[in-house]
Amino acid sequence: MKLILHNTEDSFDVVALSNLFYPRDGFTEEKGKILTVTRTGDSFEAVFSVNGNTYTSVHKIHSELYDGERCAIKSACYDVFRAATGIESPWGLLSGVRPIRFYETALSRYGEKTDEILQKFYLVTPEKIDLCKRTMEGQEAARAANRTGDAALYISIPFCPSRCKYCSFVSQVTGSEQELIPEYLTVLQEEILAKAALANENGHRITTVYMGGGTPTTLSATQLDELMKTVAKAVDVSSLLEYTVEAGRPDTITAEKLKAVEANGATRISVNPQTLHDEILQNVGRRHTVADFHRAYGEARKTSLAVNIDLIAGLPGDTPKGFEQTMQGVTALDPHNITVHTLYLKRAADYAEENPEEFTKNARETVEMVHISQAYCKQYGYLPYYLYRQKNTVGNLENVGYAKKGFESPYNIYMMDDLQPIYGAGANATSKFIENRTVSRVCNTKFAYNYVKEKWK
Ligand code: SF4
Repeated sequence: MKLILHNTEDSFDVVALSNLFYPRDGFTEEKGKILTVTRTGDSFEAVFSVNGNTYTSVHKIHSELYDGERCAIKSACYDVFRAATGIESPWGLLSGVRPIRFYETALSRYGEKTDEILQKFYLVTPEKIDLCKRTMEGQEAARAANRTGDAALYISIPFCPSRCKYCSFVSQVTGSEQELIPEYLTVLQEEILAKAALANENGHRITTVYMGGGTPTTLSATQLDELMKTVAKAVDVSSLLEYTVEAGRPDTITAEKLKAVEANGATRISVNPQTLHDEILQNVGRRHTVADFHRAYGEARKTSLAVNIDLIAGLPGDTPKGFEQTMQGVTALDPHNITVHTLYLKRAADYAEENPEEFTKNARETVEMVHISQAYCKQYGYLPYYLYRQKNTVGNLENVGYAKKGFESPYNIYMMDDLQPIYGAGANATSKFIENRTVSRVCNTKFAYNYVKEKWK
């Protein structure tokens, strides 16, 4: 897309907004789209030419808004992109990844008029406003439990039994990499002990531990047991607010591994089917079946662990009806948590470019699927407790963690809102330090083989 600006230099907002409709399209002259934004007095005009059509919109700067200029320029661009693509974004002009932060800022500026202003000027749907409010309610207890000096330990297990087609993580497929695991675990355990010592030196108390992946249950029961025993040496497991092992793929979960996880003090596990349709699982390369999920979930429920189920809205081949069947199946199992992600597309721009009609249809249907998930979670007593948006998700949507009251994951809340420092251990893990509300990050080396070679230092 070629961008021409007159009397304004706000390309940041224009680019952010265009990414909602043309993800990662980039501003070059090659794609046959021209967007011209002109400021005249207290108005912005956007003129967008694409495929021989031209769309125009003009918006005034509203002085009652604290960011009136940004709102006007985005509104004009939103109109022309919506007219050209037929896509409506339920989050309206909001392009950031943390809608709750925006909602809190809006509340502090507009008070009781917040919802009205968000709908009228920022084009946020009432459903998303309700989601923000309910998410804030769902976070209250965890936020209140967070004390100065509390910190998190994140442990990365970057191995999976096979690679899902939509995967955007740095995860090694076990098999050829299998022999790397013992060495990886040796180095990882050294780092866990070192990071816990560093937390101690910094006056931090680890209150949440999150073992994520990849697929942590790719490890054998003995390996999990040994690793978790090291965690127990590093931190006081009995006083943790949360200790999650994100098991992940049902085909890797066994009763023996669950026993090891439970015996070593974990409080929460994630069993992730993503969908309850076998043909979709096959299509996306998950290499497990719905029956595998039911077996693994059944085993997990025999333990004392709280169980989370991860789903993805917008998977290739899924439909709103199919997704509703998945929601029916999952809510009938009565898990403690349900996390609904929206499909992230690494190559979203190519998809939109190569299959524009399919992309628009998929975006519309994903909006419907997310709507269905919200309705089911509400009906079955799940409160949203964390919420974030990711660039390049189908339909400009969000990822939401839902929980039965008292089963929220504090780690997710603290991590998302930068409420605690994080000590990261393992390949591709990030440590996060917060000083005077400024966040600095230290990233470990990305790949497991480098991590082993370089001994994480
Ligand atoms: S289970 Fe998760 S991390 Fe592993 S390949 Fe699939 S999407 Fe990637």
